[in-house]
Amino acid sequence: MRFHDLTVVPVAGDGVVAHLAGAILVVLPGPDQRDRALDLVTSARGACDAAGGLPAADLAHRFAEVITTAGEGELPPFGSLADGPRGVVLFLYGAIEAHVSGATDFRVSGDEATTWVDRVVGPDVERVVLVPLGTGPEPDANPAFELGEGVVPGSGVVLSVGAEVAVPAAPERAPAEPPPLEVEEPDTAETPAAAVEGPPPPPPPPPGEASPTPVVPFEAVSLLDPGDVEEREPLPLAVEEAPEPEDSPEVAQVEGILCSREHFNSPDALYCSSCGISMVHQTHNLVKGARPPLGFLVFDDGSTFTLDADYLMGREPEVDESAGEVRPLLLDDPDRTVSRGHAELRLVGWDVTVADRGSANGTFVWDESTSQWQRLVAGVPVPIKPGARVALGRRTFVYETPHKPHGA
Ligand SMILES: [Zn+2]
Repeated sequence: MRFHDLTVVPVAGDGVVAHLAGAILVVLPGPDQRDRALDLVTSARGACDAAGGLPAADLAHRFAEVITTAGEGELPPFGSLADGPRGVVLFLYGAIEAHVSGATDFRVSGDEATTWVDRVVGPDVERVVLVPLGTGPEPDANPAFELGEGVVPGSGVVLSVGAEVAVPAAPERAPAEPPPLEVEEPDTAETPAAAVEGPPPPPPPPPGEASPTPVVPFEAVSLLDPGDVEEREPLPLAVEEAPEPEDSPEVAQVEGILCSREHFNSPDALYCSSCGISMVHQTHNLVKGARPPLGFLVFDDGSTFTLDADYLMGREPEVDESAGEVRPLLLDDPDRTVSRGHAELRLVGWDVTVADRGSANGTFVWDESTSQWQRLVAGVPVPIKPGARVALGRRTFVYETPHKPHGA
């Protein structure tokens, strides 16, 4: 599915359907949520305008912020389909479902996760229907009401690929295997130090003009319950989650504080990350509890990933799953700038650290103060702050969390 080939036909109804630059948004507000719905459209429009054509990552970032800072039940269900560098990205929040059809058919809904659900939609997809939860894949949508750019009332949308699809695909979309770069695998690279002195690695991309929105401190959140692990179907994701054990008995215990409604929080929290209530007047008695997910990663292709455990990130991360500690996090990278086992993310108390694993092209953290990428020393874990931008080869992600880290 190529975004620019899409025909956009709204389904009549009380919600809002927006066709923006590079994205389609459907918001399904309840009676008291109309203002929030229009705010979402304005926010999405801002992200699309700033992104200049491929807004998937900026939009995911914006939505994730809005969701994690909204109180429970405050936000209406919404869904979007946005263009990204690695394909079209579907993003769903709450009681909205998507029916995707083409070479493979599937249905996915926003209420499958307590946060949100996202998918990279493959090139073979021909039709996406976004409708309220419980609506079938064939809503009443008259093609005569095709929507160009704009915002109209509607309770859903039917997106289909026009006849132009038969036209030969653009070269950059050709499925041909790109020639491998002169990038050594970590296993065969001599040493990380030697790798540094070798031919200069392809520099990680500078943050684009559409650089990440300034990080707004999170104040209120509806994060996952510790036992509530987001499940994903094995779809062609840019970033695939490993199948996760049904129950994770090894959820780490950490010390934290309780809000007046007994939600478990970081000792430094100013606001409850579950209900948003101020923690300032709470007595800060430390208690032990199961550590909740420590936020999420927003990748350059618009996909997101919840940090609920330690992960080895890479093109083909090999982990000993029987050891049970580190899980694999696959990064799609046709250019092979990402090593098989590239970098490790570890949750330490309420902090997240990243460590390079001797990758050929290195792991970099963007340093705001010097406006430069800082290369990590292999094997040395470095804590990352909310809003930190990290590069692995040519792939990048931004780390976001509703939990206030130690000392922040
Ligand atoms: Zn609370």
